[in-house]
Amino acid sequence: MELASLTIHRAREFLQKGEITSTDLTRAVLNRIDAVEPRVNAYITLVADRALDHARAADAQWEKHRREKTNAPALLGIPMAIKDVICTRGVTTTAGSKILNNFVPPYDATVMEKLNAAGAILIGKTNQDEFAMGSSTENSRFFSTHNPWDLARVPGGSSGGSAAAVAADETFFALGTDTGGSVRQPASLCGVVGMRPSYGRVSRYGVIAFASSLDQVGPLTKDVRDAATILQIIAGYDAREATSVNRAVPDYVGAIHESRIKNLRVGVPKQYFIAGIEKGVEDAVRAAIRVLENLGATTIEIDLPHTDYALPTYYLIAPAEASANLARYDGVKYGYRAESSDVWEMLRATRGEGFGVEVKRRIMLGTYALSAGYYDAYYLQAQKVRTLIKQDFDRAFENVDVIVSPTSPTTAFKIGARIDDPLQMYLADLFTLAQPLAGIPAISVPCGFADGLPIGFQIMGRAFDEENILRVAYAYEQATEWHKKKPVISIQ
Ligand code: GLN
Repeated sequence: MELASLTIHRAREFLQKGEITSTDLTRAVLNRIDAVEPRVNAYITLVADRALDHARAADAQWEKHRREKTNAPALLGIPMAIKDVICTRGVTTTAGSKILNNFVPPYDATVMEKLNAAGAILIGKTNQDEFAMGSSTENSRFFSTHNPWDLARVPGGSSGGSAAAVAADETFFALGTDTGGSVRQPASLCGVVGMRPSYGRVSRYGVIAFASSLDQVGPLTKDVRDAATILQIIAGYDAREATSVNRAVPDYVGAIHESRIKNLRVGVPKQYFIAGIEKGVEDAVRAAIRVLENLGATTIEIDLPHTDYALPTYYLIAPAEASANLARYDGVKYGYRAESSDVWEMLRATRGEGFGVEVKRRIMLGTYALSAGYYDAYYLQAQKVRTLIKQDFDRAFENVDVIVSPTSPTTAFKIGARIDDPLQMYLADLFTLAQPLAGIPAISVPCGFADGLPIGFQIMGRAFDEENILRVAYAYEQATEWHKKKPVISIQ
């Protein structure tokens, strides 16, 4: 049995019976990392020794739980990977940026506290586009990550390291962040499950901010049940985070087993099936919709008339918020500092050297959009259009229960193919920008391949109706085999 390729729920069954230990699981993942990481480059930082120490402690706890017949915490002894934008106490957290290359957080993000309390074991921090700005992980200031299905291609982004690590069995699950698609798009390109929760569902405390009105943390997993398990743990109110919503967390894991596909109304938005989609992607997504129909769902063509404005709206709001959030990096209190005896020169050089090209582009775009004289024409206008986009979804959800689409218009593109053309790069997020603007949840599940490259099927739901999209995703997954396919990585 290949231990590293197990899902969380299978691994837990074996742990529960005492057939394997957390040390076995952790060693299996570390061995897998030794074998494939030189090719994949998913991790910025690995904490192997610490992970093995934690695994031994988890094994002692497991023994006690088995002896006393008590319930072990949900992730006791399960290895995990965390995107490097999420603060991990005592473990370097760079956000993929040179400006934070030496930053060791003195505290854990709330999501980390929760995963630690659930017994998960940190293996390492995953590569990402700098400050989560990008769709290919090529904007990392350290190195590019390679797609496990084709090493010449990108894993998507910005949570590309997390998606590649899950796809390559270099972890049991990972966390990413999704501001405009950064969990779902890499999940789609790497053939794993990726979920963006509703805005406010998961605490952003300790998550390095990109665009605060859009950022959410989400799981990347090998199947839908594992996604439900992780969401169960990380969701919930956090008094330390002003936008976290005080609302009970439903039983997501229980919910997926109640099949409610019969008579489910599935909206198919015409604006998401456009000329720019690759044929293989469209065919696979249409086939996925037929699977839902065969399970008893009714499909209804719907209209989301402001869809075309999602991209320009996002690329005003996100850079505007980023320009404000990134003002704090000045080399004074923490992070990278360029040496100079003159304080202004130090600030200028720190930011000049510390930030990469894309981050500087966003700071300039955002500063421009917020500047006096342009604010009304750009930022305010974008906020109004954001409301219209949200209203499109509100109206659609009066008649349908979920909305489906491709996650990404294309499969994974070649490393280098789009890096010099920002607009082409931005188009990779065409179908994943409107949901964050509207605050609604969405999941991407594997639904096939084109030329050997994975394709993702996106299922969107009403705000705080994660249960429903998990249920539909699970029913789809149970009826198909795509999620079981694994990439073969040549490791000579
Ligand atoms: N690719 C989009 C961007 O570059 C979305 C990134 C994200 O979700 N963090 O902004």
